Amino acid sequence: MSKSQTYIELDDTYGAHNYHPLDVVVEHAEGVWVYDVDGNKYLDCLAAYSAVNQGHCHPKILEAAQSQMGRVTLTSRAFRNDQMGPFLKTLCDMTGYEMALPMNTGAEAVESAIKLIRKWGYQIKEIPQDKAEIIVCDGNFQGRTVTIIGFSSEDQYKEDFGPFTPGFVNIPYGDTDALRAAINENTAAFMLEPIQGEGGVIVPPEGYLKEAYDICKENNVLFVADEIQTGFGRTGKMFACDHEDVKADMTIIGKALSGGFYPVSGVLGSKEILGLLRPGDHGSTFGGNPLGAAIGQAALKALDGEGMVQNSYDLGEYFKGRLSRIESDHIKEVRGKGLFIGVELHGPARRFCEALQDKGILCKETHENVIRFAPPLVITKDEIDWALSHIEPVLMEN
Ligand SMILES: *Cc1c(COP(=O)(O)O)cnc(C)c1O
Repeated sequence: MSKSQTYIELDDTYGAHNYHPLDVVVEHAEGVWVYDVDGNKYLDCLAAYSAVNQGHCHPKILEAAQSQMGRVTLTSRAFRNDQMGPFLKTLCDMTGYEMALPMNTGAEAVESAIKLIRKWGYQIKEIPQDKAEIIVCDGNFQGRTVTIIGFSSEDQYKEDFGPFTPGFVNIPYGDTDALRAAINENTAAFMLEPIQGEGGVIVPPEGYLKEAYDICKENNVLFVADEIQTGFGRTGKMFACDHEDVKADMTIIGKALSGGFYPVSGVLGSKEILGLLRPGDHGSTFGGNPLGAAIGQAALKALDGEGMVQNSYDLGEYFKGRLSRIESDHIKEVRGKGLFIGVELHGPARRFCEALQDKGILCKETHENVIRFAPPLVITKDEIDWALSHIEPVLMEN
């Protein structure tokens, strides 16, 4: 039995089966490369769903994490610490927001944004109590809590998990007429992913974000962007909304905010919105903890100081261009922005992902028929060329 097989059996015996992973057992990783317990080497083209944009085990983030671990890791928000403030200042300076609410996982940040939206709706927009509505899009993926799955359009995410939280209205993605029609006097916000990642790397029509934003402004509705997956350079700009010069009223962040070292998430917004929270309204034992803050600070500095966002833009264009030129009957469409690329096939993508694994490339199918290529943003052109030398023949196979 291979070493991998031993671990796979342990996983399957003792772990709940809520995932269907590729059978590669990773032991260590560095930059864009991961190594399994049997000594095989792979190019990571998923980057932990864009949580390791900075590359695996980035040395500067590692140093910050190790050093902070020996000082203090958790104070709880009952006391202050010397890491949270400087981290949030860097975050706000880099993103142009006034305030941030630090949390841990993406789903928690989305839940926090929903609470902020509602509070703004009642206190500022003066929506009658318990009537606030949030418009969301079909095909969304924003996390796995009961409230969040309640507005998913994916049956499997919801099956046998009800009843759900009311107050959400679904409309088709990319359709501004539907947005206009769905808004009423009780609408507090329109919340969306600027590119739907789990939905299949769905890029909305050009101009959609700007038009949707303008519609929100005309109607005193908050425009809230979930950039947990698209943020921090993934699409070739700091945020995917930047492609259309839209500054969301609130931006929800997570994943690459920590470079994959630790769960760090948050909500960015104005004083008018985030300032509505008073002591006791909301909280988290780990949110804003000094270890996460030190890691977040280093992760932001690595992203900013090492040209990763521009690299994503430049190499994303190159990678997408080369993928678009593959003449395979399997390919229906190649789409994406920056190093966030989806190759939609006419049939299931899983077997192509398995074939790529055999060639030393890790990627994962999303939404059944789509292969997502989203490597760490530190990837080089040579590494992309190497990947393409395997991707091309695999996609040409029968
Ligand atoms: C991953 C993701 C989330 C949820 O983040 P978790 O850390 O898994 O809770 C929410 N929104 C989007 C767009 C995501 O990609």
